[in-house]
Amino acid sequence: MRKLPIYLDNQATTPVAPEVFDTMVPWMRDHYGNPHSSHILGRQAAAAVEVAREQVAALLPAAGRVLFTGSATEAINLAFGTVQKMRQQGRDQIIVLDSEHAAVRDTALWYQRQGFELVLQPVDSDGLVSLEALEAAIGPRTALVGSMLVNNEIGVIQPVEAIAALADQSGALMLCDAVQGFGRLDISGHVDMIALSGHKIYGPKAIGALWVRDGVELPALIHGGGQEQGIRSGTLSPALCVGLGKAAALCAERMDADHAHIANLAVKARSLFSDWTINGARDQRYAGNLNIRRDGLDVGRLMSDVRGVAFSAGSACASGSGRPSHVLAALGLDAKQIKSSIRLGFGRYNSLEEVEQAACLINDAAEKQLR
Ligand code: PLP
Repeated sequence: MRKLPIYLDNQATTPVAPEVFDTMVPWMRDHYGNPHSSHILGRQAAAAVEVAREQVAALLPAAGRVLFTGSATEAINLAFGTVQKMRQQGRDQIIVLDSEHAAVRDTALWYQRQGFELVLQPVDSDGLVSLEALEAAIGPRTALVGSMLVNNEIGVIQPVEAIAALADQSGALMLCDAVQGFGRLDISGHVDMIALSGHKIYGPKAIGALWVRDGVELPALIHGGGQEQGIRSGTLSPALCVGLGKAAALCAERMDADHAHIANLAVKARSLFSDWTINGARDQRYAGNLNIRRDGLDVGRLMSDVRGVAFSAGSACASGSGRPSHVLAALGLDAKQIKSSIRLGFGRYNSLEEVEQAACLINDAAEKQLR
């Protein structure tokens, strides 16, 4: 028997890689210098922060810079600041996919309350955006187009490169929320800003980053000591920065191995859950996500019956908020179908045996409920 609970919620967060932990420890225990001090201890810390910045940048397009933030949510809020200047140029419309994570969607809704026109671009029953419809929606008034790379709830992969081309063509900026795809998938095309998070790539929580294309002007989000090029003041945590850097470097080193391992787990899981219906595109998806439903199931009950598996009903980010999943609703699922959906997220540290055991526990409990 495996150790319980079996962790199958890798879209909510990932365990910290042991190599990441080991890299961080000296920066919490021994090297306490402020990276913004000019003496030797400060310079050592600053050098470590810059190495980490390079490690993150290595997975991102060349023509840009990386700013550390406290989370991807903060990075996204920072990126949205660009719409202020665009408004002065007569661009007062924001377009984001209807299936975006709350970090993008709710920020866009806030700007709507500040007078921007907001388009929540629909997705189809597979969870994918139609490029024709998006092209028709983008116009001379569009300031910013926001699209995620991999959806956190249903794992589908949006055509980010094509979306970025449409935005660029019309002079709008393009923000990619790459939180669930960074370190796993290439990010290509004329994207202007990319948000990512440490805790989704086997790194620490409370650190993220925003990559910004050269030439894109970002207004300051946090005023103070002028750190992070005056855009995001506040003393950086060298431990968190080196942790994120190491996590990114490990993703780069292990990309093929991680991919093969997770693809293996996904094939096994799909065969074990063949009685369930997959929510979202079957093929254009990240293999580490399986969002599935079974008619008639009460997922709240299922979760309390299956305490040996840590998995999620809908979006873990929205859980506890009482809000039904807006992503599953955007696919056209009704309230009952949404309530009968679960999300399983596989990661680097899951084994085939764990997937088998979890499937056994979940399927047994589901059968008992539906009998
Ligand atoms: N965007 C997506 C797609 C996510 O999955 C998450 C977290 O679940 C976020 C943004 C927010 O990331 P953070 O927790 O670093 O703020």
